[in-house]
Amino acid sequence: MRFLVLSVLLASGASHAAPPRPAPKDELRTLLAELIAADTSNPPGNETAAARVAARWLSEAGIDSELIEPSPGRGNLLVRLKGSGKGKPILVLAHLDTVPAVRSEWVTDPWKLTEKDGLLYGRGVQDNKGMAAASILALRRLKQDGGPRSRDILLYLGADEEVGSGQGLDWMMEHRPELKEAELALNEGGLTELSPDRKQVRFVALQAAERVSRNVTLKATGPGGHSSAPPVDAGPLVRVAAAVARVGALTFPAHLTPAARLHIQGRAPITPGELGDALRRIAAAPDAPPEDAVSTVARLEPALGAVLRTTCVPTVFHAGTRSNVIPATAEATVNCRLLPDADAKAVRERIVAAVNDKDVQVEMDVSPPDSPMSPVGDNAMFRAVQAAAAKVWPKAPVIPRQSTGTTESATLRRAGIHAYGIDLFALTPDDARTAHAPNERVPVASLQPGAEFVYLTLKHLTR
Ligand SMILES: [Zn+2]
Repeated sequence: MRFLVLSVLLASGASHAAPPRPAPKDELRTLLAELIAADTSNPPGNETAAARVAARWLSEAGIDSELIEPSPGRGNLLVRLKGSGKGKPILVLAHLDTVPAVRSEWVTDPWKLTEKDGLLYGRGVQDNKGMAAASILALRRLKQDGGPRSRDILLYLGADEEVGSGQGLDWMMEHRPELKEAELALNEGGLTELSPDRKQVRFVALQAAERVSRNVTLKATGPGGHSSAPPVDAGPLVRVAAAVARVGALTFPAHLTPAARLHIQGRAPITPGELGDALRRIAAAPDAPPEDAVSTVARLEPALGAVLRTTCVPTVFHAGTRSNVIPATAEATVNCRLLPDADAKAVRERIVAAVNDKDVQVEMDVSPPDSPMSPVGDNAMFRAVQAAAAKVWPKAPVIPRQSTGTTESATLRRAGIHAYGIDLFALTPDDARTAHAPNERVPVASLQPGAEFVYLTLKHLTR
């Protein structure tokens, strides 16, 4: 086992000179600016800088927090707002680390929250410091509201989400068993979609399931040799290259999980144009979605098309070192994203059939997908989000969602916690694409509704 340096201390704001208190309407923006100014690009992370900002804002409202560092500088902040204990705790989580930013690729300073034409720019403003800031402010308001609350709220502001969670949630789940007491969790991963003209919030999608990443290795070996005297048989490079081309062209059958089904059925009646037509056709035949309608969705909204089937994309190829040497080995990696209820063995069989070359080995972990799905439909989380959204975005339906990528919710779900992902800021598809990209942004007008949404959701869950 790795040696871990652990330091635990009760965080307090005493040693930090607090700047003048912002007016309540400016709190979210002020806090967000402070969190973004703490550069937590991972690697190396340095999340403790942001955790201390969070701890100060909490302590100003009389809320204690615990700073936990699995190794120096890798701060995780844990907070418990006590309730009556009638219900099991709710876990709210946001991560404090961000992906790195290259200053020259940005129109603004990535670590200075900057407003431009109605948009707020900064690394982490979406992913995931907005959620961290809104959660802190929600806890402050709930504390101020006073009791009674039916259950504890555990707020976990974590490190290392962007690089595997070894210094973050994975470490915490092992060392802080109280996290596993939670019945429900509220995390990132949802989608609150703003129309491109920014006039209307179209829907509020709560992430309840995600696909599972699994790598497939295609490998071949041969005698190698001098390129001036090629053997008759195709060498490993040619074999693996041909296999990659065939696997790259493979399409798995469309299949709707419960979350994807309800997502499509919720969006079909409110989506105009060609996309709406395709969604209505899929909604009408959810057990056998028409392949051409699924292809239309994939063309018009790739992220939605991607969750309607298992996908496999070649991503890495290794072969050869010199131009005059026939390589003796070649290896390619294909990254598959399995539906959470996919049969991994059947996926491997299809890949083997597509490769259709006994000299190309196909290696793949065929254990069942380990990303359980949270229940969808009428439950405490959906009711809370519906009640909150009805106040903040009264015309937008609340629907479940299955996300293309993976979040830490998979870890929570494996521990038996029903985790759900929200997107507190209403974003256009173009805004949403700036996460992990240069010029990460959110509309200024999405800030206050987002803070209200998180507060009202937690209020409802703890009433
Ligand atoms: Zn991220």
